[in-house]
Amino acid sequence: MNRPYALDLEVSDWETWLKEQGYPSYIAGQIRNWLFVKNCHDPQSFSNLAKSLRTCLESEFRFELLTIDTCLKSQDGSEKFLLTTHDGLFTEMVLMPSDNRVTLCISSQVGCKMGCTFCQTGKMGFKRNLSRGEILAQLILANQRLAELGESRKVSNIVFMGMGEPLDNFDEVVASCQTMIHPKAFGLSKHRVTVSTSGLVPEIRRLGKEAPVRLAISLHSADDERRSRLMPVNRKYPLAVLKQALLEYPCPSRHGITFEYVMIKGENDSILHAKRLVKFVHGLKAKVNLIPMNHFPGNPMSTADKEEIFAFQKYLTERSIPAPVRYSRGQDISGACGQLAAKRQEEIHMDPRVLRRTRKLAERPKASPFSVL
Ligand code: SF4
Repeated sequence: MNRPYALDLEVSDWETWLKEQGYPSYIAGQIRNWLFVKNCHDPQSFSNLAKSLRTCLESEFRFELLTIDTCLKSQDGSEKFLLTTHDGLFTEMVLMPSDNRVTLCISSQVGCKMGCTFCQTGKMGFKRNLSRGEILAQLILANQRLAELGESRKVSNIVFMGMGEPLDNFDEVVASCQTMIHPKAFGLSKHRVTVSTSGLVPEIRRLGKEAPVRLAISLHSADDERRSRLMPVNRKYPLAVLKQALLEYPCPSRHGITFEYVMIKGENDSILHAKRLVKFVHGLKAKVNLIPMNHFPGNPMSTADKEEIFAFQKYLTERSIPAPVRYSRGQDISGACGQLAAKRQEEIHMDPRVLRRTRKLAERPKASPFSVL
């Protein structure tokens, strides 16, 4: 029988189950404290619970986190993890420590349906949604990794910018956000959890009502014809419809909407494009992250030239729109979303002799689940 995944259960689910087993409901809080505050997922270590209950938990539920297939460390300090789900699918997360924060970029799906042409995950197609517990498992793994590195800090910022369109997995993403910001769970600030969407308008409206987290929009073009070509979602929800939803999105005055803008050579990087972008964000409290495109094999698009990027940036900042240039962290380790999973998927289907020649990577030591390639 397929046992339920313990990390998927809400407080009320635990209370119901505990009642059925003859235990008091307050134990629900203790179980979640072990999982989400102490980042412990071995029920035999839940030392304030009766031994009989620990054994019962172990036999009734699955507690495992996602399995780490590969951990790659970048020269810039970030680490990228290729993770395997219990049913053998690949997903990814990237841990990015810096002086004043520790950011975790997490995935919400295995693959993605949205088909953005500049994105490797989009090319992979869609496998399935991650459950709320599988999303939270990434955060637990990241906190465990920080402890292993001797860091006293935990993850402080979450960005849903890994594999998948988070708002296409709305219920699980919102439930995981609620656990992230719950004071008796991970206790993160709601201003430090960012959901990034390609522009699913009905779900943007729902998000504004159901989860008070920050919103980022993958925009990449402020011209309907071009954006529809880059991002098929624009055919269903064109820019005017998206803009209206953003104007109505409840943002606290200090925190506006972040726009992600991947800079693609000859596609969206001219001053004409910058002018259209300024017009689009007019009336919104906006910040635009300019992201030089991460090229991946088989894609004819390439990153914009530095001169174009800085001219574009200057045009925006002169019009009071903050526009930092954000190089994807971990470029030396397939840092852009989907690159590592796609590479690993290819390897699985490769002749082992070809793989040995191609991979040229050292055997991983087995001592820690976080062994770095
Ligand atoms: S950019 Fe985001 S929404 Fe678009 S295909 Fe990639 S993962 Fe999906």
